[in-house]
Amino acid sequence: MAKKLHIKVAKTAGFCFGVKRAVYLANEAPKRYPDQQIRTLGPIIHNPQVVNQLNEMGVKQVDQICELEQGVVIIRSHGITRQLTQKLEQNPDLTVTDATCPFVRRAQEIVAEMSEAGYQVIILGEPDHPEVAGLISYGDPKHTLVISNQDDIPAGFFTKRKPPRIALLAQTTQSQQLYNEIALSLLSIKGELRCFNTICTATSDRQSEALELAKSCDCMIIIGGRNSANTNRLHELCQERQAASYHIETAEDLQSEWFFDKQTVGISAGASTPQWLIDEVLKSLQNLP
Ligand code: SF4
Repeated sequence: MAKKLHIKVAKTAGFCFGVKRAVYLANEAPKRYPDQQIRTLGPIIHNPQVVNQLNEMGVKQVDQICELEQGVVIIRSHGITRQLTQKLEQNPDLTVTDATCPFVRRAQEIVAEMSEAGYQVIILGEPDHPEVAGLISYGDPKHTLVISNQDDIPAGFFTKRKPPRIALLAQTTQSQQLYNEIALSLLSIKGELRCFNTICTATSDRQSEALELAKSCDCMIIIGGRNSANTNRLHELCQERQAASYHIETAEDLQSEWFFDKQTVGISAGASTPQWLIDEVLKSLQNLP
């Protein structure tokens, strides 16, 4: 007789708002521009199955701007630099569809507005992340700084303008606690501090729910691209709480021996995992031999 597992799926599993919007725009592009070549600049989202599906529809990925001569180009959910956007828009043979998440776009606008108003902009984020590269590009290079923690603020950064006027914001996926700590430490500097909380809760909401679920399950299955940082982090956190946590990309990665001695299985998925992949995993688990 087939084994009956009790399966609990996290409510927050799967696409966040920004990814849903980007994938929708990419799916709609062939209908809106039926006679044109459609390309995404870099992967539209970090999920290989979605990227492959779009590829089959003719929405292919290019990695360099020089590969784009004509047609439609879709900008990915975590945005690109201002200079790259301007280059794309200056090409009269290209139609730009901007799938940058509105939360990321808002953060770019804040950097631009604050820089123009003469503030020293501090961005809490990973210096090499494409979203951060995009944010920096909207600021005045001499007065925009990226930090990963408080110690990254160089001595003398605030001495050029007296009293300093500081605008603090963050990459959308940063830790709220770290942002608060840095904001508090900047309060001691005599000058003006403007805090813009640009952190999006999509990632932290998925993490808190998955951790809560792990408490009541014998095993966790985390679904998502191996190139998806938020999926990897979700898996790492669950592993810290629940040793039996497995990161899979598709239902084919499931192994029945993982569940021999298990009763309750929790499922969560990164913000770039589509619902159909979650459904396939659920179906396979329900039909385990
Ligand atoms: S995680 Fe948040 S900021 Fe990033 S794409 Fe999703 S909704 Fe937008």
